[in-house]
This record gives sequence, structure tokens and C-alpha cells, in this order.
Amino acid sequence: MAIRNIRIENDEILRKKCREITEMTPKLRILIDDMLETMYEASGVGLAAPQVGILRRIVVIDVGDEHGPIVLVNPVILETSGSQTGGEGCLSIPGKTATVTRPNYAKVKGFDRDMNEIVIEGAGLLARAICHECDHLEGVLYIDKAESEVMDTDKYYGRDSEEQEQE
Ligand code: ZN
Repeated sequence: MAIRNIRIENDEILRKKCREITEMTPKLRILIDDMLETMYEASGVGLAAPQVGILRRIVVIDVGDEHGPIVLVNPVILETSGSQTGGEGCLSIPGKTATVTRPNYAKVKGFDRDMNEIVIEGAGLLARAICHECDHLEGVLYIDKAESEVMDTDKYYGRDSEEQEQE
């Protein structure tokens, strides 16, 4: 496994639409492993393939709950409900946070690394992460949806807060 370089805000690859995976390959398996390692190394809760420069429909998520690491290939959001409004960050926009309203529940269908179909349901932070990562596959960043100024994270939360999730 290897740490990959995370693409930053003005990189135009972050604005492109990603292609579906039709077949799992050894190269894509390595990409998935590298995405997980890169996400953990950056202390993130989610990472999408375009963030490491690959325009394919793969996301990884780990919000530290009982789901553990989630790998979603070709994710499609089936259902959302409720809403939550709170701070959101992104590994591609380091050190920044803004207020974004997201569904409080999301149900997503996709495939795991063996191309078995999986359905994941999440509430709270997991729902937020699912929506955030699926947006990346369409070239959408959270700053497009921000309802507040995009601020330095320590200013947004107050200097001593540890409530910082980066996706
Ligand atoms: Zn992100």
C-alpha cells in the first residue's frame, strides 16, 4: 500500500465527472488500498478517487463507527431523509470548514471490492460523509453548498475544539 498525493482545491480534476467501474482489476484493488491508507494517514473520514487524481467512481469512508472501513464502487444514493446542519471539511480543502446542510439519513447502494452488491444505511456523520463523497464523483465540492463563509477550521470551531472531520 502507498500514500497517494491528495489533490487540492483548484486542481481541475476535482471538478470532473468520474467514470463507472465495469470490472474490478488488480490495479483498482491497489487504488482502493491506497485510498484507505491515504485517508487514515490524513485523519480523514472519507476519500473519493478523484481526490487522488483518478476519475473513477470509488469512495472509501470510515467514520469510526461499527461499519468500519466502507468501500463503495459505483455508489448510488437510493434514499435520504431528514436534515442536519453543521460544519463540514474536505481533505482537498485543508484546514477549512463551512456550514453545510445535508440529509440526516442516507441509504446507498454500490459494490464492494469484490464487486458484490452492498447497501449501506447511515445517519448523522455517516450520512454526511456518504453525500459528500458521492458529490466528489460528480465534481461537486462542499464549498459549492456552503451556507457560511469558508473559514479556517480552528476559527470555525474555536481554537481548542477537536470536532473536526475532513472528508
Ligand atoms: Zn471531500
